Amino acid sequence: MEKVVIIGGGYAGIYALRELVKNRDIKITLIDKHTFHNLQPEVYDLIANKSNMADVTIDLTTLCMGMDHDYLEFKNLKVRKIDTEKNRIYTEEKETVDFDYLIMAAGTRTFFPSAIEGLNNAEDIKKLHRAIFFKQSFENQLFEKISDEVKRCNNTHIVVVGAGLSGVEIAAEMAFNSNKFFKRGNFACDNLKISLISSSETILPGLSSDVINMSHKRLKDLGINVITGSKMERCDEEYIYLTNGTKISQSFIVFAGGIEANKITDVLGVATNRKGQILVNEYMQTDKFENIFAIGDMAEIKDKKGEILPPNVTVARYSGTSTGQNVNRMIKGKKLHACYPKLDGILIALGGKYAVGNLYGLLNVKGLIAYYIKKYVFDSYRAPLLRLIKIGYKKLNKLK
Ligand SMILES: Cc1cc2nc3c(=O)[nH]c(=O)nc-3n(C[C@H](O)[C@H](O)[C@H](O)COP(=O)(O)OP(=O)(O)OC[C@H]3O[C@@H](n4cnc5c(N)ncnc54)[C@H](O)[C@@H]3O)c2cc1C
Repeated sequence: MEKVVIIGGGYAGIYALRELVKNRDIKITLIDKHTFHNLQPEVYDLIANKSNMADVTIDLTTLCMGMDHDYLEFKNLKVRKIDTEKNRIYTEEKETVDFDYLIMAAGTRTFFPSAIEGLNNAEDIKKLHRAIFFKQSFENQLFEKISDEVKRCNNTHIVVVGAGLSGVEIAAEMAFNSNKFFKRGNFACDNLKISLISSSETILPGLSSDVINMSHKRLKDLGINVITGSKMERCDEEYIYLTNGTKISQSFIVFAGGIEANKITDVLGVATNRKGQILVNEYMQTDKFENIFAIGDMAEIKDKKGEILPPNVTVARYSGTSTGQNVNRMIKGKKLHACYPKLDGILIALGGKYAVGNLYGLLNVKGLIAYYIKKYVFDSYRAPLLRLIKIGYKKLNKLK
């Protein structure tokens, strides 16, 4: 029986898994260093106290049980090394897993440039435990502002470095929530100050000028100080120093300045880009091994015109689904189908029930309607997974 292994139970890995389980005659192993799938784009609701940990996670054990495949198993392991001669995966836990086909879907992590002095204390929200810590730190800032007589008068200043999607969304969510908090409490002190720093000439580089302008206006309306065309050079306990020669006070830094692929791409010996993302062909195969695929954020994926696509859930969906189907085709000796993801649009959450975006490159949307479209998209992803984990949970309890 052919052995298929997926490393990474995030969006891309789960889309691939949903296709692979349609083949009842293969052995499938899903490996993840966490016990759950972290619904990263929904983490803002967690920070805004609109949801809790159960709402932004999908348990991988019950998910696999719910999929009802005789030879599917989930292993909670952290991959350390892959031997491409033996087709063997080595893990931190010393367990090894062999494969005939391997799907790499281990995502990316926040890139903290070592050249920026002092950055090690900055917050990162890509990992769930960091997001929870971040939420507490943000609430601490609010608490200190209302409870400390000195801080009441001085500015408590949160600085978000990086104005791509996550930086913009997190700055907007914090601004919206602190505005709401101060209004609700009628406190005798100023609001928190929030700055957003973009090294590019605009926020959201690469997006359409309409989306940039709509987002910029919303950030301004929320009271965010937007600084463009300047990079963070270094920071200390009190200040951030920018390449334009200015320094700004800071009490809390969130770093969203870029991503890099998970380090396991280094040990595979395949071609990667400067972010460590694996270069793949139109079938999501690596340059050296036709039985090793890379999908989602971990891969550099191009559209039909050959343009590199930004890592996001849509690309994870296309590449994951296609690779699951192609591995099934390969096992059956059938021809593979090429995958060229298309972006259906972009929707950016900008605090509270407000979003802006563009659909299919045709229609700009903003406000409540854009928020509900975004919510609908993510709810549609989560709903079938929730059904599966409920089935898996019931099964598990019967076994006990
Ligand atoms: C705050 C935030 C907001 C976002 N908002 C949006 C949005 O609005 N819209 C959108 O389209 N995209 C958004 N994104 C991007 C989106 O979350 C990613 O594109 C998506 O998660 C990529 O899916 P993936 O499966 O490739 O990687 P991931 O979802 O990151 O999954 C990778 C999995 O691999 C596992 N893993 C990693 N290393 C190992 C190892 N060594 N061994 C075993 N397992 C390992 C991880 O535990 C994880 O479960 C957002 C991201 C963030 C951080």
